[in-house]
Amino acid sequence: MTFTTAFAERTVATKALFERAKVTIPGGAGSTARLPRNGWKPYPLFMAEGQGSRLRDVDGNEYIDYLLGLGPMILGHRHPQVTQAVTDAVAELGTCFGLPYELEIEAAEKVVAAVPGIDQVRFTNSGSEAVGTAVRLARATTGRRLIVRFEGHYHGWQDTVYWSNHVDPELAGPIDHPRPVAMGGGVPAELQDTLVVLNWNDPESFIALMETRGHEVAAVLTEPAVFNTGCILPEPGYLELLREQTRKHGALLIFDEVITGFRFARGGAQEWFGVTADLVTYAKGIGGGFPVAAIGGTNEAMRLIADGTYSHSGTYNANVVQCAAVSATMDVLAEPGLYERQRALGNRLARGLEGIATAKGIDAYVEGIGTVFQLWFADRPIRNWRDAAAHAREDIFTRWYEEMIVRGVLFHPLQFENLFVSLVHTDEDIDATLNAAEDALSVVAR
Ligand code: PLP
Repeated sequence: MTFTTAFAERTVATKALFERAKVTIPGGAGSTARLPRNGWKPYPLFMAEGQGSRLRDVDGNEYIDYLLGLGPMILGHRHPQVTQAVTDAVAELGTCFGLPYELEIEAAEKVVAAVPGIDQVRFTNSGSEAVGTAVRLARATTGRRLIVRFEGHYHGWQDTVYWSNHVDPELAGPIDHPRPVAMGGGVPAELQDTLVVLNWNDPESFIALMETRGHEVAAVLTEPAVFNTGCILPEPGYLELLREQTRKHGALLIFDEVITGFRFARGGAQEWFGVTADLVTYAKGIGGGFPVAAIGGTNEAMRLIADGTYSHSGTYNANVVQCAAVSATMDVLAEPGLYERQRALGNRLARGLEGIATAKGIDAYVEGIGTVFQLWFADRPIRNWRDAAAHAREDIFTRWYEEMIVRGVLFHPLQFENLFVSLVHTDEDIDATLNAAEDALSVVAR
C-alpha cells in the first residue's frame, strides 16, 4: 500500500477538520510551519490530546511524540506539577496585572540560578520577540549597527533576522562571502546593509570579518549548536573563538538558546559547552510547554533595560501563566540525575537508529546532544548549511518519515528539523521506536 493510501485511511477525521479549518484559518493551520508546503503532506494531523510522551490524533491514532510541539514540551504533555502550578496561580492570582508581582521575581531567580553566565532575565512571549529585543539592545548598547550571523540558523520571524535560514543556494553567493537572503516577501531589502551573514564553523571567515569590520559590529548572533539545519555541532574551539573575538572588538555575543536552553543540560548550551554569552534568548523549553520566552544577560549587558533607557515593553510580558510555568518548570528540572538519565535514553535511541540504518546499507549518521538530534541521510558529514543543501537526502528522509508516521512515531517531516526526546520519555518508548525503525528502514532500503 502506498503512503498516500495508508495515510488517507488512518486520517479520515483529520482530513475533514483540515477542510473545515481552511475556510476560516488561512491555509488551515495556525502557523505556516504546519502547512503541507512545509512538509506536512498531504495535510497536517489534527491532534486530540497529549499525555506524557504520547499524542493521540482525532482519528484515535496514538503516536510516540518526538516533535514535542517543535520543542517546548520538554516535560512531555500535561506535566502534572506544571499544569497544577499554572492552574492554581490563575485561580488564586489572576492572569495579568500590568504591574510587577512576587511570582515574577521567583521565576527570574530560579532561571538565573539554573543558568551560568546570566545575572538578570526579562520574560516575554515568544522566541522571535526575545531575539528582536536582544538585537536591538545590542545596537543600543554599542551604538553600532552591524549584526553578524550565520547561514542556516533561524532566529525567528522579525525583519532584522528573517534572513538566510533555508533559502535558494543559488542566491546565497559564494561560501566565503555569502549574501544575506531574505526568507520571504515583505522584508525591507535595505536591512541587508545591517547584516553580515557568514558560513558557520568556519574560523577563518569569522576572523577575517572581525579584523576588517569588527569595530562596526554590534553583536554576533548564533545558535550555539545549530538545530535549524538538522543538527550541526560546533567544531572544538569555535564558540570560544566567537567569545574571544567579540570581546576583543567590543561587540556583544548573543546565544540564541531558544532550542538549546534547558534541553540537554539545565544550564543549556552555556553549561554544556562552557562558553558564556553577553545576552541569551530562551523560549520553547523554559515554560514546560506554556507560551513564554526570555532574554537573559549579564548585569552589564542588561544595563540599558535596567535603567529604563532602552524600552523592552509588552502588555503580556511576565504574565501569571508565564511565571507560574517557568517557576514550576525550573523546579522539575532541578531533579538530581534527570538530565543524565534522559541524555542516556536519547543517545540509546540515536545510536540505535544510526545502527539500524547503516546495517541496512543506508548512508546515514546521527548528530546531536542526548535529547535532541537528527538522523542525517548523507554520505558525508554535514558541517554547515551549504553541505546540508548540497548533500542531505531529503527524498530518503521523506520516506523514513512516512514509514514511521504510519507506525505511530511522530517527528518533523523535514530533515532540517530535529527529533526531540522529552524528560519523560521511557525505555519502553525507545524500544517501541527502534522496533518501528527496524521495519521502516527495511522498506526505505528497498
Ligand atoms: N530562535 C531559534 C533558535 C528558534 O529555533 C526559533 C523557533 O523555532 C526562534 C528563535 C523563534 O521562536 P518563536 O517561534 O517562539 O518565535
